[in-house]
Amino acid sequence: MPNRHRPDREEPKTPGAAALALLLIALAFPAVAARGPDLPDYPADEVAPGLYVIHGPVAYPSPENQGFMNNPAFLVTDTGVIVVDPGSSVQTGEMVLRQIRKLTDKPLLAVFNTHVHGDHWLGNQAMLAAAPQVPIYAHPKMLEQVAQGAGEEWVQRMMSATNGATDGTLARGPTHALDGGQTIAVGGLTFKTHYYPHVHTTTDLMIEVPELGVLFLGDNACNHRIVRMDDGSFSGSLKALDAVKGAVSARVLIPGHGRTGGWEIVEDYRTYLSGVYDGVAELYEQGVSDFDMKPQIAERLARFKDWPGFDEELGKHISLAYLEVEGEAF
Ligand SMILES: [Zn+2]
Repeated sequence: MPNRHRPDREEPKTPGAAALALLLIALAFPAVAARGPDLPDYPADEVAPGLYVIHGPVAYPSPENQGFMNNPAFLVTDTGVIVVDPGSSVQTGEMVLRQIRKLTDKPLLAVFNTHVHGDHWLGNQAMLAAAPQVPIYAHPKMLEQVAQGAGEEWVQRMMSATNGATDGTLARGPTHALDGGQTIAVGGLTFKTHYYPHVHTTTDLMIEVPELGVLFLGDNACNHRIVRMDDGSFSGSLKALDAVKGAVSARVLIPGHGRTGGWEIVEDYRTYLSGVYDGVAELYEQGVSDFDMKPQIAERLARFKDWPGFDEELGKHISLAYLEVEGEAF
C-alpha cells in the first residue's frame, strides 16, 4: 500500500534507532527527561482595568495540574507589563507569558513575588528568559531564604508532587528587595507594600495598587482554599489581617489561591484562622491534649469542611496553634 506510506517517505529524515530508544526512555521515565511538558493555556480574567488574573486550580500540586495551583496576575500599562507571582514552574511562567502576548507586545517592566513559597515564584525563570534585566521585587527575608536554598527545596517538592511534570525548572529568586511600607512607581502605577512580621510566612508582602483599588493578598488569606501554615503564625495572621483591613481601602482583593473578590475573602479566612486558634485556646484551658481537639474543632469549622486543603491541613494547623497558645501561656 504505497500511498499510505508516502508521507513518511517525504520526511527529510526518519529518527534513527538510537534516537527512538532515547525518546522511548524519556516517555517511560519523565523524571529523567530534560523538561516537563508545556502547561495548557488557562484563561486570563480581567478583574480591574488592565489587570488580569489567571486563576489557577485550587487543588494540591499533582501530575494532572502539572503543579499549577496559584493565581499569576499581570497588569498591562501604557509603557509595559508588570507580573505578580508568575507561578510554580518554568512551564507555568511560559504559559503566563503566552497569555500576556495574546494581549500586548509591550515589554516586561517588573515582577513581584508575594512570598517564598515556590508555587508562586518558580515561574520567574521564564520571566528572566524573556527579559533578562527585569527587576524582580520581594521582601528582603525572601531574598535571604532563597539564598539559603529555599528555592531548590521547592523545585524538588514540585517535581515529586507532579511526577516530574515541572522538570527543567530552576530556582531564580528575586533580584530586588522591597521592605514593607515602601512605594514604587512602575508603568504609571503605584505599588505600595504592606508587611507584617509573621503571617503565612515571615516573607509575605501584600501589594496595593491604589489607582486601581486593588490589593494582592498573597497567601495571607485565600478564597475557598485552606493553605499550609508550616511557616506561619495564627496569632500573627489575625493581627495582620486586622491591620491591613484598617490600612487599605481596596475594593478588588486577589488571593494567592481561589477566586478574586472583595473583603469577604479576608473575613472568611479570618473566621477560619480564629476558629482554629480560639478553639485550641479554649480546649487548652480545659486541659484537652492537641490529639483530642480535632473532632471538636472540625465541628466548629464545619462551614469550611469542603474547602480544598481542609482535610490535609487541619491536624497540622491544630498542632501549630497549640504550640502558639502554649508559648503564650508561659
Ligand atoms: Zn504560600
